Amino acid sequence: MAWRCHGATNGELIDNLLHARIITHERVAAAMRAVDRAHFAPRNPYMDMPQSIGYGATISAPHMHGYALEYLHEHLQPGMHALDVGSGSGYLSACMASMVGAGGRVIGIDHIPELVQGSQTALERNYPEWVRDGRVQVVVGDGRQGYADGAPYDCIHVGAAAPATPTEMLAQLKAPGRMFVPVGTMSQRIIVYDKDSSGHVTEHKVMGVQYVPLTDADKQRD
Ligand code: SAH
Repeated sequence: MAWRCHGATNGELIDNLLHARIITHERVAAAMRAVDRAHFAPRNPYMDMPQSIGYGATISAPHMHGYALEYLHEHLQPGMHALDVGSGSGYLSACMASMVGAGGRVIGIDHIPELVQGSQTALERNYPEWVRDGRVQVVVGDGRQGYADGAPYDCIHVGAAAPATPTEMLAQLKAPGRMFVPVGTMSQRIIVYDKDSSGHVTEHKVMGVQYVPLTDADKQRD
């Protein structure tokens, strides 16, 4: 089903994600139209498939980015703060930055310095005002403990699979806040964790997936 969403242009790809009802909210569609995948994917940017970006990493498929933004959209309102763990190409951080706007803040964290440098270059080249006004920033680091310096966050997206419930990251969510994260080793599922205004956390399983694991930088390069 999902691979049918590919298009000849970025606009056509987003139209197809809308037709397939993978994305349904206009704010999500607008963000994905504002951020051209060709700035972040080295090849076949409008195919609905993951693409290698080197260093054992991939830019996720457009339908997965669409699902992530759909699940997080209420927590990506103007002025909100978000964390993108395993930011890789920087594409999703840019979409999130488009949604939170000038007063908001998105931090992308990845443990491969070359990928962070590549995403920084793409952001500076294509969205220089977003870098200048601080609505998007990418940092090098191990994201398994989240990123305490920018906490708390209205939402956290995790782009690589956690072996078990990522409790340190949950602690960095605001109340209320939401996290979208693939969890599991042999078999993985996207789990959406919701923290309510009193700090109580509930979870629901969304779909089965296959992501690269959250790991050590040396292991990933091998
Ligand atoms: N969401 C991104 C990348 C997905 S691939 C995109 O669509 O472009 C998963 C990313 O997680 C890779 O870039 C990888 O380097 C990163 N990663 C894996 N383990 C990590 C860790 N411990 N800390 C930070 N980043 C990690």
